[in-house]
Amino acid sequence: MVAEREAMVELQLRARGIRDERVLAAMGRVPREDFVPAGVRSRAYEDAALPIGEGQTISQPYMVARICEELGLNGGERVLDVGTGSGYQAAVVAELAREVHSIERIPELAERARAVLRGRVVVHVGDGSRGLPEHAPFAAIGVGAAAPRFPHALYEQLQVGGRLVVPVGSRSAQTLQVIVRSPEGPAVLHAVPCRFVPLIGEEGYHAG
Ligand code: SAM
Repeated sequence: MVAEREAMVELQLRARGIRDERVLAAMGRVPREDFVPAGVRSRAYEDAALPIGEGQTISQPYMVARICEELGLNGGERVLDVGTGSGYQAAVVAELAREVHSIERIPELAERARAVLRGRVVVHVGDGSRGLPEHAPFAAIGVGAAAPRFPHALYEQLQVGGRLVVPVGSRSAQTLQVIVRSPEGPAVLHAVPCRFVPLIGEEGYHAG
């Protein structure tokens, strides 16, 4: 599947404007096929989100790369990934940063991701809409599920200068917001249209 992965990097990512060579290289190294169920393995390099069970999805490769690029990582950071899902996004972030924590609310998914990630990422089970205060502050926080409004708890767990990349909006349409923590307060760098499953939790949507 190496050729398919190379084609994904060129056609789905570089051609659509992903410029960070470290991100492109990381996407070229991480085998997406290892993070999807056997039944959809042959579709691992489709330009789409795919079902991973428990009503959840592995994100579209472009969105994974876009979030990684917007996190602005250099390699020395501690990062929080909210919404582990399959563990794919966390695996790509782990190629780009020093220490990665990932949090998932569905224990079965966290367990599966932990097995694939084999210690490269610390996988926690819990409500990631509240962040991971015991491990804060983080240089960057990426969220793979949509919050109904600006998630204050996550922002508070950023170090000054740190970046929060989070889809914010309704259940059906959101913008991926890139927010920097500054001494003056949150600065929204930009917002890109996107569509993610809901973030369920105290600072997210109610379940159901
Ligand atoms: N980035 C993931 C990947 O690469 O597979 C995909 C994430 S999937 C689109 C969103 C995930 O967020 C789901 O697994 C869902 O269970 C999880 N989730 C939703 N609300 C959450 C919360 N409050 N805390 C932690 N995880 C949450």
